[in-house]
Amino acid sequence: MLERRKTRQISIGNERTGIVRVGGDAPVSVQTMTAGYTYDVDACVAEINRLAEGGADVVRVAVPQRKDTEALKDILDQTSVPIVADVHFHYKRALEAIEAGVHKIRLNPGNISDREQVNSVIDACRERGLPIRVGVNEGSIIERKDKALRLEELGKFFADRRQGHLIALMIAKLEEYMEIFEAQDFHDVCISAKSMDPRLVLDVYTEISKRFDYPLHLGVTHAGPKETGTIRSVVALGTLLASGIGDTIRISYANDPIYEVEDGLEMLYCLGLRERKGVELIACPTCGRIQVDLFELVQAVRKKLSDEIELPLKVAVMGCIVNGPGEAEGADVAVFAGDRRGIIYVQGERVANVPEDEILDSLLDECRRFEARVKAGEAHLGEKAVEILPPDPIGELGSGVDKIAAGQVEQLTIDES
Ligand code: SF4
Repeated sequence: MLERRKTRQISIGNERTGIVRVGGDAPVSVQTMTAGYTYDVDACVAEINRLAEGGADVVRVAVPQRKDTEALKDILDQTSVPIVADVHFHYKRALEAIEAGVHKIRLNPGNISDREQVNSVIDACRERGLPIRVGVNEGSIIERKDKALRLEELGKFFADRRQGHLIALMIAKLEEYMEIFEAQDFHDVCISAKSMDPRLVLDVYTEISKRFDYPLHLGVTHAGPKETGTIRSVVALGTLLASGIGDTIRISYANDPIYEVEDGLEMLYCLGLRERKGVELIACPTCGRIQVDLFELVQAVRKKLSDEIELPLKVAVMGCIVNGPGEAEGADVAVFAGDRRGIIYVQGERVANVPEDEILDSLLDECRRFEARVKAGEAHLGEKAVEILPPDPIGELGSGVDKIAAGQVEQLTIDES
């Protein structure tokens, strides 16, 4: 991992919501956006609180109509996470949202470009100490009137790059827009430049990071359904973050936004950019050695543990005990399944051997007990690696050395010395 790019820092929120810092030495934050209508106050509050509980650091809401900004005050009174008003087309929605007490404004240079209008939003934000995200989107920047000419002119920049004209156009739009902010000496700004194409996102953010020292909000927009959208987002955002670029992220796709938060956090945990909250689960992939319904078990374990366990326990759900111990090394709690049974270990010590239908409950009990001991200071996370040595683990599960002798277990090695 490269050192993170140095950027200015902005702050979002207030004493009540807590302040989320973006840029500088702040941890990379996770954002998402509500799916419901903002004017539906109760539903919007419930959705924001659910997303905040799921780990969202900042939540954005759409305010396309006056009734949305009118609802904001009530919403802000009932939520405890910084809220961003997403403004398109009507700069007055930004002014109304600021008046209602919102914590940050997002402006789209593609549809609010009048200098006086932008200046009035800048003035209102400055008065209240609010930051603005300048969010360029590939889809909204191509001017309808002189599109062909612009693309031709800009095509000569980045000519060696795939979609070089779009990179140039997004950067040109951003530079024009940022000139308004510079002229007003307003620097409480964060920048994004999203596209639905992950390769374009990679190129554009890389170029922007060379031109501006404002914090960058990373995202792939219109990324499609969750199944492919996650991959598109993680490829682009993960690559940028691994090169030190990016200060806040939104993974986005067509699904419940709670998954965007979960996936965003997991990506940051994997990159070592955030300290893990909750369980880290290790589990087998498909494998012909698994002798229980492991996939169903893993999903059930995942759900239960995320609901019940707060500490970052490392939990392993392994399909066999032949290779499982090596794969689960370092797990605090581990189950090794085989022959329709499961053997459970807590920090290397065998604590249970149960039939398949009792594995879930037993494993959860052990996780709860272990977490309680950690909280009481009687045990420590990651203190002991799982050390379970064959030679005859199969026998312990009831399948016996006869299987080894019959060549049905290929990978078991026995130290004869
Ligand atoms: S631990 Fe066993 S069941 Fe799991 S992937 Fe490895 S060999 Fe297969």
